[in-house]
Amino acid sequence: MSTAPTPVSSQPARTAKGESIRIVDEAQAKTNLLGMTPEQLAAYFKEIGEKPFRATQVIKWIYQYGVTDFAQMTNLSKSLREKLSAHACVTPPKVLHRKYSDDGTRKWIFEVTGGSLVETVLIPADDSKANGRKTLCISSQVGCALDCSFCSTGKQGFERDLSAAEIIGQLWVANASYMTDENESLERVDHSEWQNNVTNVVMMGMGEPLLNYKPVVSAMELMLSDHAYGLSKRRVTLSTSGVVPKMYDLAKDIDVALAISLHAPNDALRNELVPINKKYPLSELMAAAKHYVNDINPRHKKHVTIEYVMLEGVNDSDQHAHELVALLEGLPSKINLIPFNPFPHAPYGRSSNNRIHAFSNILSQAGFVCTVRQTRGDDIDAACGQLVGQVADRTRRQATWQKSIAERQQSAAGESVAE
Ligand code: SF4
Repeated sequence: MSTAPTPVSSQPARTAKGESIRIVDEAQAKTNLLGMTPEQLAAYFKEIGEKPFRATQVIKWIYQYGVTDFAQMTNLSKSLREKLSAHACVTPPKVLHRKYSDDGTRKWIFEVTGGSLVETVLIPADDSKANGRKTLCISSQVGCALDCSFCSTGKQGFERDLSAAEIIGQLWVANASYMTDENESLERVDHSEWQNNVTNVVMMGMGEPLLNYKPVVSAMELMLSDHAYGLSKRRVTLSTSGVVPKMYDLAKDIDVALAISLHAPNDALRNELVPINKKYPLSELMAAAKHYVNDINPRHKKHVTIEYVMLEGVNDSDQHAHELVALLEGLPSKINLIPFNPFPHAPYGRSSNNRIHAFSNILSQAGFVCTVRQTRGDDIDAACGQLVGQVADRTRRQATWQKSIAERQQSAAGESVAE
């Protein structure tokens, strides 16, 4: 006689901290276990009348063996496998397009619940000393509300936050892409041979991760958890444009590497390039960054990565470099200079290689480790700043922006005719 599965309550389960953990996959009306932290999953198992340690077993199946079908989770009892199949699912976001570049870069466009599109890019290091490093740049929101003036994602406006499942699902799919057969199917995969190939994660794709705080932290917990991906905390980086209060929360909640999208060495210029600077100016941003690296676990020496996009004639002079040196005094930092990738109607150009070299020299002579990011994946529009390429324009901000550029061009043409 078969045992009837224990009915699952319609009320969301809650963790000890009182967080709701019920995440329903709307298409299947089932609870999606992808993206639940170990604590959330243990609460879920308790709720359905099972031992919380089942959470560890299921997490290992999902993230270490790439299994999404409960029937294949052979160390669970048959009745539990049936119960989970009836009420739960493990559903990564749907891949709408994938493009693989000749240089090894891979890009996915995901269609997430509600039809929104987000992009994810995997960039393999081409340096033989990099030990096969593969870095995945993950999105945290659909679009972005912060509207940095050099960023194509910002031009499409903000649509919605991603769930933890949609965030960690990007990593799951990227790892799975190395295990598929010639038909890009996982059906014949021997899961006992599963290997996770992504070695590094940067929360640096579409969106400002600190404005989608809880799902981002949950996803990063899974990246770090030994039962899930087990990445070292130095290999998981959160990049923020400077949501200062959340930087203090982050320092309390999770230990990951921090990057700051700085892009300007003074408030006047940063207000223009990164408008959130008007709310949280550089003095507050630098104090929060110093707190993050110096005050938390001071025996564990950390640094912040400073991201600085090189915009021709805007932020790339010797004077700007000297200002940057002064600004970063007392903050252990490595500086990553990013040659700007122009996108259609972008109001900026890329600094010349000579200019980038001269800028970099000033920083190096001042004692900073300074690298220049290599542009990768050009053939698939995957280079940084092009993430928005084919993503639908849902908020119309991009259309409005392009219209205003066309109007400005028309009016400038009119003026020159008048002259
Ligand atoms: S640079 Fe980052 S924070 Fe700024 S608009 Fe683009 S995605 Fe948003």
